[in-house]
Amino acid sequence: MTKQAENTKGQCDIVEKKNKTGLMNRRQLLKAGVATGLYCAFPCSAESGALPGYNAMAASENKALYLVHCNIIDVVQGVVHLDKTVVIRQGTIDAITDGLPAPEQGAVVLDLKNQYLMPGMIDAHCHATLTGESQLNVFGVFTTLRQFKRNFIQQFAHGVTTIRDMGAMPKLLQDGLTMIAKGDIVGPRVVYCNAFTNIHGGHPDIDPADVSIFSGIAMAFAGNPCLWFKDIRELEKGMEQNSAGGASFIKLTMDNKSVMCGLSDITVYSDEHLRVIMKFAREHHLPTAGHVHTKFGFDRALRYGLNSMEHSIADAGLSDEEVLEMARKRIAIVPTMIVAQMLAAEEAYGALPPQYRTDFIANEMAIRRQYLNSQLSDDIEPSIHQANMASLENYQKYGCENLYSKGLFLPRPETYFNILLKGPGNLLKMKQAGVLIGCGTDSGVPFVYHGTLWREMEMLARVGFSNKEILQCATINNARILQMADKIGTIEKGKFADMVVLKENPLKKIEACRSPQRVIKDGRVYDVTVKT
Ligand SMILES: [Zn+2]
Repeated sequence: MTKQAENTKGQCDIVEKKNKTGLMNRRQLLKAGVATGLYCAFPCSAESGALPGYNAMAASENKALYLVHCNIIDVVQGVVHLDKTVVIRQGTIDAITDGLPAPEQGAVVLDLKNQYLMPGMIDAHCHATLTGESQLNVFGVFTTLRQFKRNFIQQFAHGVTTIRDMGAMPKLLQDGLTMIAKGDIVGPRVVYCNAFTNIHGGHPDIDPADVSIFSGIAMAFAGNPCLWFKDIRELEKGMEQNSAGGASFIKLTMDNKSVMCGLSDITVYSDEHLRVIMKFAREHHLPTAGHVHTKFGFDRALRYGLNSMEHSIADAGLSDEEVLEMARKRIAIVPTMIVAQMLAAEEAYGALPPQYRTDFIANEMAIRRQYLNSQLSDDIEPSIHQANMASLENYQKYGCENLYSKGLFLPRPETYFNILLKGPGNLLKMKQAGVLIGCGTDSGVPFVYHGTLWREMEMLARVGFSNKEILQCATINNARILQMADKIGTIEKGKFADMVVLKENPLKKIEACRSPQRVIKDGRVYDVTVKT
């Protein structure tokens, strides 16, 4: 590995790597990539038969579909409209009426029996081609691929009808989209950026050149998640490729510090790079979203006026002026607080350092512990979770600063504890200032599993958001961030028929969002309480 490459290793929420001590090295990773690629060449192999599926109960393709006796959650007003009928035609909401109109001939009628109907939820920050593994097992590639398909299914079964993929292996992502389109698996609609528009050595930090024997083959199948340009020409070419491949926004990585144990500085865009990127974005009408964990990244994202900042910062409390400037420039935030909870690994410490002993953190740690030790087979392949849990022992075994040099790649818990300290205050300030706040999980990152938007929503409640605000974050605010508010995010005539049926009123009890009864996407209704 070159000295420069060594110095520029960045934070990586793509995958961690395994060597003889437990994590994957680059060579093994790429081997897994090759196997993954080969497996992906046969996406409908026998394995897919065992995947969870759900009953399609009704659809609006050929006939009108009447959902009767619906208690509609109005996320904008924060009220319930009782006993309504929603008429759906060809996947779109055609009318919302009072009571029970006489359905036209041939229409399908589904009685929701006064359950609650809310807009389909949106996970505005996830990585659909990543499987939440901190240890990839070369011999477990079938498990990885099975989990890849489950990622979409799990999101859907938890009421997420749209996801925004924030950095993917582009070809693998296309395989997933094809499977959903063909009906091989159920899944949300996907808005995506394809590869990260990242500078060479910037986040995330797996350099295919280090494993040249396998890299070409693996990337040929799965696609390269890193754009990693070296000059302006490569940068422009990469952005054109992403966009030609269906990307509808540009994902940037703004930080100057790695979050990996044993690393510090990472390479950053020059001002010229950022000017070129922002010009391309304007000319192609592509919003920009920037990964920001540091004040350095925040300041630059603020100066250049990105459309959204992703995650929360660890190293500063923001001033009123900074937050007001964010609101003035209409920069949204997708705070992904739950990734901080999960990556704040208390296992790294014998005793938690005194500065982290706050009531808020103690409560988050208790919730994290309880989640990690619960039955998670609906959230993740059990062998992946077991391997993740085992990887936590490496913190104390080797010490954080020594991990990288030993070929062990784990995130630095300090960064995430600091986010738990600073994040809530910064976020509440943004809310006060009128910044548009979305809701996302960062699922695909180790320990953050797909279909857990409800965990981020409940964490926002603990940070100080009302149920109405949380529901807005997960629906209409996200729809605005995706620039799709004319199509999704509320239950309104003319919008896509993307909705979720809940037993209880989420305005009163946000935990109602944990377990949807039915999920409706494009006018197709699925019973998600029973796996087929
Ligand atoms: Zn991410």
